[in-house]
This record gives sequence, structure tokens and C-alpha cells, in this order.
Amino acid sequence: KVRVRFAPSPTGPLHLGGVRTALYDYLFAKNQGGAFVLRIEDTDTARYVEGAEDYIEEALEWCGIIPDESPKKGGKFAPYRQSERRDIYDRYTEQILKTDYAYIAFDTAEELDAIRAEYEAKGGVFSYDNKTRNRLRNSLSLSEEEVQKLLDEKTPYVVRFKMPVDRTLGLVDIIRGNSAVNTDVLDDKVLVKNDGMPTYHFANIIDDHEMEISHVIRGEEWLPSLGLHILLYEAMGWEAPQFAHLSLILKPEGKGKLSKRDGDKFGFPVFPLNFTDTATGNVSKGYRESGYLPEAFINMVALLGWSPADDKEILTLEEMAQEFDLNKVHKAGARFSKEKSEWFNHQYIQKTSDEDLMNILKNSDLNLNIEDEKLLKIIHLMKERATFPKDIYENGKFFFEAPTSYDEKASKKAWNDETSSLLTEFAENLNSLNDFTSENIKQNLHDFAESKGLGMGKVMMPLRLALVGELKGPDVPDILELIGKEESTARISNAVN
Ligand code: GLU
Repeated sequence: KVRVRFAPSPTGPLHLGGVRTALYDYLFAKNQGGAFVLRIEDTDTARYVEGAEDYIEEALEWCGIIPDESPKKGGKFAPYRQSERRDIYDRYTEQILKTDYAYIAFDTAEELDAIRAEYEAKGGVFSYDNKTRNRLRNSLSLSEEEVQKLLDEKTPYVVRFKMPVDRTLGLVDIIRGNSAVNTDVLDDKVLVKNDGMPTYHFANIIDDHEMEISHVIRGEEWLPSLGLHILLYEAMGWEAPQFAHLSLILKPEGKGKLSKRDGDKFGFPVFPLNFTDTATGNVSKGYRESGYLPEAFINMVALLGWSPADDKEILTLEEMAQEFDLNKVHKAGARFSKEKSEWFNHQYIQKTSDEDLMNILKNSDLNLNIEDEKLLKIIHLMKERATFPKDIYENGKFFFEAPTSYDEKASKKAWNDETSSLLTEFAENLNSLNDFTSENIKQNLHDFAESKGLGMGKVMMPLRLALVGELKGPDVPDILELIGKEESTARISNAVN
């Protein structure tokens, strides 16, 4: 049975890379009819950030990536917060210490600093590993009596992994294929800290085993830990899950990892939700607050590193789940594009019903003072050009209020000596229209221009300027119908005076 987990550490907000990992976890689980688990990896208390866990849950929920099991929801393998699983880790610490894969080490931070300095003075780098461990203070180098004495004196200690000497490990990755690593380049990682809490590596493999995780899908920054993890499974006598490491999301230029600073600098969001840095008070932009629709956002994220069949680009979450294939995830890094993000949102605005867009606008901070029926018509006319729901208002402000000035360049182009009398006469025409619909107005406009021996544009252009204040917007008859007879003639009379 397929079981996958997203295992974030609550050390900050979820960024694009994290969302993509969660999304691929989710899509793979759904594709395989398996379960998607959210596990909070909070054993590193020094890096814990207040509120980060809530942020992560809220962000996933906004995206529609809903876990089957989680700290809040519970599940068969609860608790799903590592800080609440201490008794489980204690049991396995005891177990691994009975094997030849782990030992205890008494070295203090000061002692290790001194050795590090000694190596650096000689131009080298110190590593606690199978070449140096014999000269350090641990249960491999000290006699049994010495170790017992230190334990009796309650000397603090850590548990370290005993990296085997010169073994070549085969690493299998679904996305990257096969590779190998020699244990001599790996160090003796701390598995349990001196406060008894396991480190990421140990807690992670214990939980993946305990929670019956079948596939580990995570960022490529964890690839260097894969050798250790494989050996930890071996040490515990457990079968390891399958692994898939996802490539980085790259900056728009294609070089280097996309970072929060790129977003702050260039004004595009890299977080699903706004994030306020409690230390500095700085707010980094979120997709939600910038006006992205969650469906557009996850569609964009999904395609950062995966291509569905036939190069389809617009897919719902369900469609993505149906098609998702880890074997088709790209090995190369995916380049982020702000323009592409906006393109996706534009596409989804077109797919969203006028009613839903109305609700979005009414729930925004725009404070629109207009009847629903009219607003729906405006949305219908304006959504074609909108990237964000707010654009409907921004680009269609003239529907809500009369222009207070007229674009100078446009005036030069659209206005001449005859325009005032021409428009005044046309306004009278409008006034006498009983059927004030865009179709009827259009016919009238046409007849009017013809009777004057003018092309349509000669009347339409100054009319547009009078109504909008610039030479933009949808068809003039549509604008006239929507703002109504009274307001239309008022605007014309304003413009000619
Ligand atoms: N807690 C790790 C992280 O924050 C999880 C890595 C993994 O998925 O194994 O990325």
C-alpha cells in the first residue's frame, strides 16, 4: 500500500519548493490510491518558529492539498508531531545502541571546537568520522570502566552513528536513477542529542518506518543524507522505503535557487500566503494576498518540474492526480517565471464564473458600492483582460465613477472643433432612445455617423474619451448600456463643456 508523507520542520513559512514537495506527495498518493500524511518534524527546538505549523497547515489547505492524516486530524499512527513521540524514539535509541551501528560520545562542545581549530590551523577540515573517532572521547575509544564511570557521574553524551569503513553503497532514486557513495566520505552523525531528543535523521527514519511510509519524496537537499538513511534502515533491520529527490526551483534567470529575497526584490510572491517576519516586521508577499486563485497557483507549481502527457498545461487537481507519474518528473532544475504564474492566473480567471468572481470582489477590500446585476455585467465585460480579480475594477474604474480628467494625448487625437456639437447632438439621440441596449445603441450610433457622413470611429473615439477619460475599455455601446442613459448623457455634457 502506498503511503507518502510531507514532513516539514516548523522553522518558517512554506515556500514554493515546499509546496511543490507537498503537492507531488499528494498527487502521487492519490494517483496510487494511497494515503498522504502530514508530519511535523519539530525536534530541533533551536530552529522552532512560533506559528510556523499553523502557517503550513493553512497554506496547504488554501492549496487544496488536504492530508489524510495530520497532527490536527489524527490517524492510525498518531501523534504526527515529532515532539510528542519521544517515548518511541527512546525505545529505538536503546535498540540501536545494542547494535554495532551506534556508540555514545562524551566530547563537549569546547573539546570539539578545539579539535576543529587544530585541523584548521593546519589548513584541514575536521570531521567526526571513522578516521578520527578513535582519538575522541567515546565508547569506542574509552575502556568499559571509563565509560561506566562517566555515565555514573551523569556526564552528558550524544549517540552517534558508527559509519562503516570503506563500504560502497548503491543508492536508488526514482527520479535520478542509480548512484553510489563510499562510506569513507560520510561522517558519524549525531542521532540523539545530549537532551535525549533525536536529530532529524534518526527521528525521520523511525517515523517513516513506524508510519509505514512506502515512498519518500523530498527536496534534493536531502540527497547527501540518503547514504546515512539507507544504513540506518539496515542498522534497525527495517526495509527502506523508495526515494525520489526533487530538483531545485531556480531563479527566473535560471541560475541559483529561487529565494525569498528574489521575491522581495522583484515583487513577486514566493510564499502561498503572506508571511510576516516577527523579528523584522517585514512582510513577504503571498500568492493568496496577491490575488492568485489557488487552482491557478497549484497548477503552476505542479508544472515546475513535471510535464503531463501532450504538454497539457491547464489541469485541475483531480486531473493532475490522475496523470501524475514520478518517472516523468524532471531531473533538471525548474526555472520559475513570474510571467508564467500570471498567465496561469489569467487562464483560471477566464474559467471562473462571473458569480464567483463577484464574490471574490465583494469579499476583497475594494468596498464596491454597486448592484449585483451591474457588477456581474462589468465582470463579464472585463474579465477577458484581467490577470487578477482586482484588475476588473482597476481597468474598469470608469464603470464605477465618471472620469475627473481626460488623457491629454488622447484628447489631441480624438477631439476637434466640431466634436462638441457632434456629441451634444448624439447625446440628444441617446436621450430619446427607449430601448437602451448595447445593440440598439450600436445601430443608432451607426445611423448617426452615416447621416453625418463620418466613419464610426470619428464618433466613437471622442465618445469613448468622454465616457472613460482615455481611449481604452470595452466596446462603447457596451459601456453606454452599462452606465445607463442618465450617467452617459451627463458624462458627455461634462466633456463638451
Ligand atoms: N524535516 C525535513 C524538512 O524540513 C524533512 C525532510 C524529509 O522529507 O526527509 O525538509
